[in-house]
Amino acid sequence: MSELEPQTKPLALVTGASRGIGAAIAEKLAQDGFHVLINYASSEAKALEVVNRITAAGGSAEPLGFNVADSKQVDEKFDWIAKNRGQLKVLVNNAGITIDGLIVRLKDEDLDKTLDVDLKGAIYCSRAATKTMMRAREGSIIQIASVVGEMGNAGQSAYAAAKAGLIGFSKSVAKELGSRQVRCNVVTPGYIDTEMTGALTEAQKEAILRTIPLGFFGSTADVAALVSYLASPASRFITGQVIGVNGGMYM
Ligand code: NAP
Repeated sequence: MSELEPQTKPLALVTGASRGIGAAIAEKLAQDGFHVLINYASSEAKALEVVNRITAAGGSAEPLGFNVADSKQVDEKFDWIAKNRGQLKVLVNNAGITIDGLIVRLKDEDLDKTLDVDLKGAIYCSRAATKTMMRAREGSIIQIASVVGEMGNAGQSAYAAAKAGLIGFSKSVAKELGSRQVRCNVVTPGYIDTEMTGALTEAQKEAILRTIPLGFFGSTADVAALVSYLASPASRFITGQVIGVNGGMYM
């Protein structure tokens, strides 16, 4: 890490960047010229693979493990970032889990886990980031929610509650911090080709595809392209918005 010169590159943190959508976002932000902090909870080896891919392509990144659901760890890591890496310009709250099941069988512990990671984790990281962003009068916070938080989904009530909560939270932050030029937006992916959708049967895939006007599953790059725009000054007049990447599934 000693050869890094993060002060020469703007700094971005992507939570849950060891695979899937988070990894694609991290790679895109690195291409855009950011030094990217690759967060993970337990998948250190996978996070290092993402770092290696980025550096091999000429970008700049480093791993930063912490559990977003632990507010003490979050505060400690954000303090470390401010002292050792400088001003955070972009925070992407992407870390998320799903524990699916019908509402009648929803266990307290599964509800708590889902809200702790998907909602409270994003709130802890946003709170920690805004402290320095407010002082710098610059910053872009991007939440990765879900189309499920907008339209609901049978068997995903806890997940939908967490993702819908993120939308109200983000609009409040956008209103509070707009005068400080800190922006906060929500990206809501629909069905994205990941390990998760790879596990669907052909019949399930066909049924889902019939609900998507564009007729195909999105890619992680489709989500990363929107995040890249929201992270850049090109989106300087956009805050408090919920933007779907869903092939028209919800409009
Ligand atoms: P994924 O492949 O399951 O990856 C989840 C990432 O989050 C991993 O890097 C994981 O790291 C990390 N993570 C989980 N719990 C964490 C914690 N407590 N602290 C820090 N990191 C943690 O997920 P994905 O499919 O790419 O989805 C990414 C985001 O997009 C999620 O918020 C998801 O809800 C949303 N989304 C996905 C889809 C889709 O079709 N895939 C659709 C709509 C929305 P570890 O392995 O180290 O835990």
